[in-house]
Amino acid sequence: MAQFKIRLSNREIIYPNALKKEEKKELNDRCQKEKLKLFCGCNGKNEYGIRKNTWAIYPLSNENEHEDWCPKSKVYKRKIIYNKGFEVDEESGNVQVYLAESIKKENNGNDREQVIIRDFPHGNRDRKYPEYHQNRITISAMIKKMNMLTFMHVAFSKGENNKLYPNADKMRDKIYWAEKRTKIDNYQKSIADLDRIKDNCRFEYEMLKEIPEFSEKDSIVKLLTNRRNRNNERVMVPVYRDALERALVEYERTYTTQNMHNRNIVMSGFRDIYAMHDLRFLLVNDFGLFSESLYEVEMYNAICKIFNENRLKEKGAYFYKPFEYGYGAYEDKYLEDGIIEFEKSNKKIIIEVYGRDDDEYLEKKKIKSKILESGNSIYRYISWNAYKKEPLPEKEIESIINEILLEEEP
Ligand SMILES: [Zn+2]
Repeated sequence: MAQFKIRLSNREIIYPNALKKEEKKELNDRCQKEKLKLFCGCNGKNEYGIRKNTWAIYPLSNENEHEDWCPKSKVYKRKIIYNKGFEVDEESGNVQVYLAESIKKENNGNDREQVIIRDFPHGNRDRKYPEYHQNRITISAMIKKMNMLTFMHVAFSKGENNKLYPNADKMRDKIYWAEKRTKIDNYQKSIADLDRIKDNCRFEYEMLKEIPEFSEKDSIVKLLTNRRNRNNERVMVPVYRDALERALVEYERTYTTQNMHNRNIVMSGFRDIYAMHDLRFLLVNDFGLFSESLYEVEMYNAICKIFNENRLKEKGAYFYKPFEYGYGAYEDKYLEDGIIEFEKSNKKIIIEVYGRDDDEYLEKKKIKSKILESGNSIYRYISWNAYKKEPLPEKEIESIINEILLEEEP
């Protein structure tokens, strides 16, 4: 799914999802003063307006003549069913999460798998869709999506403080942006507002520094984070030992290694008044982007470095990892591992990292060659066959980005 882009009648490009409320208000004032009109950036055919008070950007007519890949297109909206469980509101950008597990510590038994909630978000179970419970996501999936949403927000944010992709520690602070706009199930407050004492529940998201040695005698283990408090001491987060052991097993299964040294690892989940009872370790790259493998870490590091060294954000190129299904390079079958978009072009670079030659790899290759044969694609593909020990295609990425940046505006 591409990012929603607005083209003003003076040809200026704006990314509404990256704008703060005050910035949307400023835009509204400027449009009135300079008599500017707003159009969807995909093909400039659909006019948009700005709502008073909420400053939400909304379509002025119901006519829908967007390009298929545009997040406002009919094709995209048909895919919304795939994005249930983590629903981003089109106008406000707020997120409603439906979880398949409780964020509160359960008293009966240790096995989290046993406590999956079976209720349904809208009260009525639709018999036609027995898989409806699949529209709820795990806490792990929620954390990953919050990470990718925040990274995408940073990618498209402009201004003095947003010229570069920040490092993983700075990215950690940006997650608060997603916490503030995300609500879980029937909770009336955002994740950011959950209070350790009042709600006996709080969300944690920290960069892990070290796990101290622990034994079976410990009921709580204090993990060291990268963050320092006002006295310049490392912030520690207490975790119930059983939750820590579960998280370590899950980490090993996911990344097929126990090694946590010299890696950027996020520790995230929920705590009660005493300690975290729900913990996940997430591998991220040097710039805080969730990575599914060490190969992805390498690839995302290379891209972020190319962007920062060449000041590509300022030049109107944006890199992110998609987390929502829409109409992408693989229609609704697969998500791309990474996308590079451009302010002045509808072309998109698709990044693929192949750690194995499995079914997904073969299927993606097939769809890719079909699209290439059709000849009029907006997609450029760059894949890294890491499993074949190929070198990282850094030079290729850099040269295709520059090629697209130098193209004439349509
Ligand atoms: Zn559009």
